Amino acid sequence: MIKHNGVVLVLSGPSGAGKSSLINKIADEIGDFYFSLSTTTREKREGEEEGVHYHFVSKEVFEEDIKNDNFLEYATVHGNYYGTSLNPVRKALAAGKLVIFDIDVQGNMAVKNRLGDITTSVFITPPTLSELKNRLEKRSTDTQEVINGRLAMARCEIQRTSEYDFIVVNDDLDTAAKVLKQIALTARLKIPHQIINTFVHKWEDIRE
Ligand code: 5GP
Repeated sequence: MIKHNGVVLVLSGPSGAGKSSLINKIADEIGDFYFSLSTTTREKREGEEEGVHYHFVSKEVFEEDIKNDNFLEYATVHGNYYGTSLNPVRKALAAGKLVIFDIDVQGNMAVKNRLGDITTSVFITPPTLSELKNRLEKRSTDTQEVINGRLAMARCEIQRTSEYDFIVVNDDLDTAAKVLKQIALTARLKIPHQIINTFVHKWEDIRE
């Protein structure tokens, strides 16, 4: 086996796609992983906790972090800032972990540009737009206006699925979880360019 540092698994997809349920379902079966806790300026929703769902900060604090180059990537989603702090990710990668991000399509592109050779990306979606609408309405944590915003966003995001390595259609949770587990285990096998170059150099052990 070629030994190397950690790798990244990016998960994107509309709220209501079931990303959190899928992660929870496979958490015990994909080895040691670090789930990247994002920072956001959006309001805390009912039931959400600081340090569990997000780091909730003010716009001023977020903009200070941008200035100090503290983010691996950040984006504006639904009018709020969301970002991935660089330091915890660096540490987790150095510890050889599978680092999982739940970020939007803009974030995926930014991560691909910075860490493309160790990144596997997955777009998770319900089977249709109307099924997404049903799920969001059933969840009843959002107002109709927020739901409409999410649906509009989902219509835009689905156009960019070709930027991902895999699409997981979450029709049936058990089936989708099985597929995602396979992808997560395979993501661990991805080898950075630098390590491949070193391997090739060593492999050529007969010099002419
Ligand atoms: P929500 O407000 O429903 O928790 O998240 C809204 C959207 O923001 C989701 O698509 C989620 O994937 C995305 N998101 C959450 N954290 C980050 C982040 O750190 N960076 C980026 N680019 N998007 C994020």
